[in-house]
Amino acid sequence: MRVLIIGGGIAGTAAALALHQAGFEPTVYEAHPDNGEDLGAFLTLASNGMRALGQIGAAARGR
Ligand SMILES: Cc1cc2nc3c(=O)[nH]c(=O)nc-3n(C[C@H](O)[C@H](O)[C@H](O)COP(=O)(O)OP(=O)(O)OC[C@H]3O[C@@H](n4cnc5c(N)ncnc54)[C@H](O)[C@@H]3O)c2cc1C
Repeated sequence: MRVLIIGGGIAGTAAALALHQAGFEPTVYEAHPDNGEDLGAFLTLASNGMRALGQIGAAARGR
């Protein structure tokens, strides 16, 4: 089943990963034209948020 997700922030991206792992075909539509690396300072995630990301394989440190 195809799923459209509007917004590629942490919520939309995490939803897409989880839905993909559950066998769905998510497509994320993001209005911002690039990665937004220059926006904001940081995103704080509590331990429950990190556990949720761990369940979808997204808790490892990036570059
Ligand atoms: C000024 C500011 C400072 C903050 N500072 C902190 C902080 O220091 N620490 C912290 O933990 N949190 C902070 N936050 C909160 C944090 O940014 C949010 O809790 C978090 O980003 C929410 O994630 P989200 O995926 O729900 O939404 P967002 O990150 O807002 O993602 C939503 C995405 O949807 C896209 N979008 C919206 N409408 C459309 C559309 N019609 N079509 C396509 N794409 C669309 C947007 O471009 C955006 O990329 C801050 C927020 C703000 C505004």
